[in-house]
Amino acid sequence: MEIDFKKEAEKLGDDLIKDLTTLINIDSVRDDEHKTTDFPLGPGPAKALNQVLAFGARDGFITKNVENMAGHIEYGSGDEILGILGHVDVVPAGEGWNTDPFNATIKDGKIYGRGSSDDKGPSLAAYYGLKLIKDLKLPVSKKVRFIFGTDEESNWEGINKYLEVEQTPDYGFSPDAEFPLINGEKGIVTFKITFNQSNEQKVIIKSFKSGIRVNMVPQTASVILDVNNIDANKVREEFSTFVSKNQLSGDIIAKNDDLTLVLNGKGSHAMDPSKGINAATYLASFINTLELNEKESNYFSFINNKLHLDFIGEKLGINFSHDIMGPLSSSPDIYDYDANKDASTILVNVRYPEGKSDQDLVSLIQNTLPSMATVQVDGHAQPPHFVSADDKLVKTLVETYRDYYDDNSEPITIGGGTYGRILDRGVAFGGMFPGRENVMHQPNEYIIIEDLLLLIAIYADAIYRLIK
Ligand code: ZN
Ligand code: ZN
Repeated sequence: MEIDFKKEAEKLGDDLIKDLTTLINIDSVRDDEHKTTDFPLGPGPAKALNQVLAFGARDGFITKNVENMAGHIEYGSGDEILGILGHVDVVPAGEGWNTDPFNATIKDGKIYGRGSSDDKGPSLAAYYGLKLIKDLKLPVSKKVRFIFGTDEESNWEGINKYLEVEQTPDYGFSPDAEFPLINGEKGIVTFKITFNQSNEQKVIIKSFKSGIRVNMVPQTASVILDVNNIDANKVREEFSTFVSKNQLSGDIIAKNDDLTLVLNGKGSHAMDPSKGINAATYLASFINTLELNEKESNYFSFINNKLHLDFIGEKLGINFSHDIMGPLSSSPDIYDYDANKDASTILVNVRYPEGKSDQDLVSLIQNTLPSMATVQVDGHAQPPHFVSADDKLVKTLVETYRDYYDDNSEPITIGGGTYGRILDRGVAFGGMFPGRENVMHQPNEYIIIEDLLLLIAIYADAIYRLIK
């Protein structure tokens, strides 16, 4: 029996749009401030989870809620489990929206709203793909679990709780990236470099701060100088020259004994640091031209010499590349220097291919540090993940995609992390088509309705090929 998945998918468009609207209208940003024992990740993510599980129950699926942190919708039976891994949480709305980010708005064939493309839209399209298989009563021989996490955008506690409690699927995909398919995800690790230095008599730099998130190139940086120990007019002049020479923008604020310099760069995701303008390393390169004391000089010359404009960790001694997975990337994103503190820190976010461990990288960085500085892994590190392009899962998904979309490009490796990496045979598959504007995490996030319908067809066909 030949099934026209595209034609069948089009019939489900209105229902999908209705459900997607319901889901977008739930603000599901992880909310630790309002967490309770019932809602360990905050009420919003749990509400969104319960909503998708309610869609599943309404449509006749078995559903399971794992402690309001994750859950699944189940279909079919068999020893093997295909996992489909989506997430119902979203990143904060941020500034710059033309519509209410938590009130889905349809305009010009698009649905606008936070989560429309990451990941509520693609996840629901994949769910509708599964529903299509069920509605058409297609014969299947394996079990499917559509698993929803509720804090993919932060710590993955939900999905990790799920894996503690429930059986790990044998293989699977996450509809939370782009086509054709992501079979390689670089290791993700943050290194904390600490300079241990005692205070000095003559302070030029009172403090230097930059960065809000370890996975984002800092957009602004600021330094407070002590006007008693500098030629303030000269510094102002030199800073203005520096700012215009580098085609940046900045501010100079004088107050009492403080001269504050603010430099504006351009934020970007840490997995692609060359796309941003790191305000901190630029400002540090300017500070490094001042007459600094030894403590200051150790910190700022290090940033200038070992971090500034180096996106592949070459000067840190950690650059290496993998034939298929590509090069390591390095993004120094959070800075804390205070004249009154003995320890000043820099957090460097690194994405690396297979071939070295995070501890190998620690040793290499340590070799480039001055004697008063140390380096360690900060927080939770994730090793690199790779599934061969010859794996049947990869081949099946790519073949399905190619049957619907004229694109013969090969699977790719990314510097980001998706739920695909939680399974040994896990990949990310769609939902962004080539050439589409990447609006994930951006203001005015949207998904094109026509793309959503095509997604239902591709996911339905792909799931069916994997479980029939
Ligand atoms: Zn996502
Ligand atoms: Zn995201």
